[in-house]
Amino acid sequence: MSDWWNTKTLAQLSPQEWEALCDGCAKCCLHKLEDEDSGEVFYTKVRCRYLDEEACRCTDYAHRSVLVPNCIALDRDNVEGLDWLPSSCAYRLRANNQPLPQWHPLVSGNKSSVHDACISIRGRSISDEYVHPDGYDEHIVTWVE
Ligand code: SF4
Ligand code: SF4
Repeated sequence: MSDWWNTKTLAQLSPQEWEALCDGCAKCCLHKLEDEDSGEVFYTKVRCRYLDEEACRCTDYAHRSVLVPNCIALDRDNVEGLDWLPSSCAYRLRANNQPLPQWHPLVSGNKSSVHDACISIRGRSISDEYVHPDGYDEHIVTWVE
């Protein structure tokens, strides 16, 4: 099936297809702040220190949940409840039965298209090694929805 990403449900994906569905934007590796009263989530440009910003890849994927206890591994059972994921996230789109956008590497056939379309965080984040958690609110961004 040539466009399996738009025709299969998340539950029908093989493990390899599940991994391939990720667009590599790395927005989910940014720190987020939640308004205690409204529950609204705000993204900051502060990234997890284990992210390679240029590659938009985790530098220790195998041990990520040990290194960062609140690093959540997406799976079929939890993805639909994760409404803090960015609206562009492929898992969120497919959970809502929406098609992948043209810039998604699976659609474009080009791994760089997520960066070329300025969807990824490449070149516009700062490592949490350099920001005190009390100062995250100074780095809230509007380019993640
Ligand atoms: S936000 Fe979604 S599509 Fe983007 S890197 Fe994270 S899991 Fe992958
Ligand atoms: S541990 Fe890896 S996957 Fe988890 S938030 Fe950090 S960079 Fe992202």
